[in-house]
Amino acid sequence: MSGSEFTRPLVPMDVAGRAERVRAAAAEAGCDALVVVNLVNVRYLTGFTGSAGLAWLASDEIVLITDRRYAGQSEAETSQAGVDVRIEITNLAPKEILAAAASEVGRIGLEAASVNWADQRKYAEWFEGAELVPTTGVVEQCRQVKDEGEIDRMAAAAAIADGALAEVRPMLAEGPTEKEAALALDTAIRRLGADSSAFATIVASGPNAALPHKRPSDRPIGPGELVIVDMGAVVDGYRSDMTRTMAVGEPDPKARKVFETVRDAQRLGVEQVVPGSPISEVDKACRDCIDAAGWADAFVHGTGHGVGLDIHEMPWVRSTAGEPLQVGQVITVEPGVYLPGFCGARVEDTVVVTEDGARRLTHSPKALAVT
Ligand code: ZN
Ligand code: ZN
Repeated sequence: MSGSEFTRPLVPMDVAGRAERVRAAAAEAGCDALVVVNLVNVRYLTGFTGSAGLAWLASDEIVLITDRRYAGQSEAETSQAGVDVRIEITNLAPKEILAAAASEVGRIGLEAASVNWADQRKYAEWFEGAELVPTTGVVEQCRQVKDEGEIDRMAAAAAIADGALAEVRPMLAEGPTEKEAALALDTAIRRLGADSSAFATIVASGPNAALPHKRPSDRPIGPGELVIVDMGAVVDGYRSDMTRTMAVGEPDPKARKVFETVRDAQRLGVEQVVPGSPISEVDKACRDCIDAAGWADAFVHGTGHGVGLDIHEMPWVRSTAGEPLQVGQVITVEPGVYLPGFCGARVEDTVVVTEDGARRLTHSPKALAVT
C-alpha cells in the first residue's frame, strides 16, 4: 500500500535559516556559543532525528556530535535539510571535540532545562576557562513562529487526525471500551499515513471525563455519557492536537449545558486570536464565558499551548501571558469544565495565527452526536 489520500508532497522547510535566528537569540542571552542538548532543539537546528547527540552552535559553525549508530543517518538528514554542519562521530564523551571547538569562546550557553547537575559539572571541567551561562528557551523561542513548511506538516497531521476521528466516531455508538476506541483511533492515524500519534490518545467517558488527562480504561462507553477524545498525529516530526466531546444519545441536561458552555467558550477564545493582541485575551475570553455559567472553579487548566515539534511548547496561552500573538505561531485553544464524579467536556483546536486571525488546522465537527 502506498500511503493514502492524506499523504502528499510537503512544502519544503527552511531548516538552514534557523541557525542565524538562534545565534541572535543566544547573543541576546549573553552567550557567544550554545551547547544544544535538547534533542528536539538539535533536530530543529540541523534536521538530525537520532536519539543521541548534541549540537555546538558558535558564531561561525555548527558541529553535530553523535555516535556510530547515526554516522550515515546524520550525514543524510543534515544534507537533505540543506544545513551546513560539521559532523563528528564518537562513541566516547565528546570532551576533546567540544574543548577544541570552544577554545576561543568566552561565554558558553547551556540549556538549563535539559542539563542536569552531573552534566553541568562535566561541562565546567570540559570548558575550563570559559564562563558557563544557564539559558532558558533560547531555541524554543525561535521555534514559536513556524514557516510555511512547518505549518504544512501540522496541517497534514491535523487532516489525518480529522480523518481518523471521522472513521472511528460511529463506532462509539457500539459501546466499545475507552481502550478499544483509543486503539481504533491510533490504528487509523497510522493507517492514514502519520508517523505515529502525537501523544497517548485520550478517550475518557462518563465520570472519567472529569479527569482532564485520564488514560483510557476498560470502562465501556455508555449511552448519554459525555466522552472526551483528545488526539493528534505526527507528520515529519510536527504534531497536531485536537479534542472533541461527544455523546451517544442524549445526555443529561446539565451535562449538555457543560458541553455547550465549553464549545461556546472555545469559539470565543479562537475569535481572540489576533496578531498583536495579548495572548492572555484568548484565555480571558474562554474563562469569562465559563465563569458566567458558574463553573469558574471547574476550568482547572490553562487555555492552550504552542504546538510544533513538541506537543506542548511556547507560547503558553494563560492569564499571565501578556506578550502579543505573532503571525506564524501555532497554538491550541482548549477550555474545559470538569465536574468530579459526574462529567467533563473539553473542545480543542490547533490554530495558526495569520494576518487575518485564526486559521484552524483541525476541522472535525463539534456536534455532540457521534453519527
Ligand atoms: Zn489535546
Ligand atoms: Zn492541547
